[in-house]
Amino acid sequence: MSKTIDWSNLGFAYMQTDKRYVSQYKDGAWDEGKLTEDATITINECACVLQYAQTVFEGLKAYTTQDGRIVTFRPDLNAERMLASAERLEMPTFPKERFIDAVEQVVKANVEYVPPYGSGATLYLRPYMFGFDSVIGVKPATEYQFRLFCTPVGPYFKDGVQPIVLRVSDLDRAAPHGTGNIKAGLNYAMSLHTLMDAHRNGFDENMFLDPATHTKVEETGGANFLFVTKDGKIVTPKSNSILPSITRRSLVYVAEHYLGLEVQEREVLFSEVKDFTECGLCGTAAVISPVGKIVNHDEEICFPSGMEKMGETIQKLYDTLTGIQMGRIEAPEGWIHEIQK
Ligand SMILES: *Cc1c(COP(=O)(O)O)cnc(C)c1O
Repeated sequence: MSKTIDWSNLGFAYMQTDKRYVSQYKDGAWDEGKLTEDATITINECACVLQYAQTVFEGLKAYTTQDGRIVTFRPDLNAERMLASAERLEMPTFPKERFIDAVEQVVKANVEYVPPYGSGATLYLRPYMFGFDSVIGVKPATEYQFRLFCTPVGPYFKDGVQPIVLRVSDLDRAAPHGTGNIKAGLNYAMSLHTLMDAHRNGFDENMFLDPATHTKVEETGGANFLFVTKDGKIVTPKSNSILPSITRRSLVYVAEHYLGLEVQEREVLFSEVKDFTECGLCGTAAVISPVGKIVNHDEEICFPSGMEKMGETIQKLYDTLTGIQMGRIEAPEGWIHEIQK
């Protein structure tokens, strides 16, 4: 049974669902964890997360495949990435098996919120962890909470695919040797000002360049880049200050093993961008969102794929990966994690 939700008109906004998973870390150990109906959290005014932003998160989706199974896509990679993020912020790690168990419990407990196949909507899952107890001198918390809630979200390309316009940000989202490679709220706090400034100036998103030299392409605030060269190769920036997107890593595999394309993961100079024929942003939300134009002060780069549709190669990548996710195309071993109803 599905809820009576108008799936095709859902946006990307929080909607409270029935149950979420909570586990508390105290005295050096995680408790057994449980589902709860309580969507609120009560914490001390001096909680470490509120004072020193000790928090990490993940994002993944549950959805219905063509043959009616409810699945998630590569949740093991989200579990591993959250472990790495937690370690970087001196937080305890939440075990991988328990992360996957929490995903399963939350999806099962909210199964009526999983949108039907073909609606384009999905159930977005948000695992996160934060420093719970009070800390005034600078140090990590000693108590933590891991939570995982879900909220249904609408189709990303509701009004059809519209290529977006980026501008190159003069401000950075990450420092050299900083925390750009972990999924932490602090990286988003860093990017809010330049994101709002981009919006106020009519741009959809920022392209961030490498913080040390401002000559190499990094990523946007929440998605990695893929470029296509004139001779049909895929190029994606390599840097240790970008977040290792699971979607991008999956698309690279699809390009090589399903489409027979050559992929180069390497440093990408901003000065090369004008020579690419297609550009896309990869992340869980959109899979790939096409970029039509990039503005860097007086310089404008317009990709030949234009402002009306995805470029041909990006479209193929998109169709193949979404086909794999939705069960229309055979998936590589271990990519599709079925939730037993
Ligand atoms: C989450 C995120 C991405 C996309 O990662 P996916 O695993 O593909 O969803 C890219 N960049 C940043 C900064 C992110 O936080």
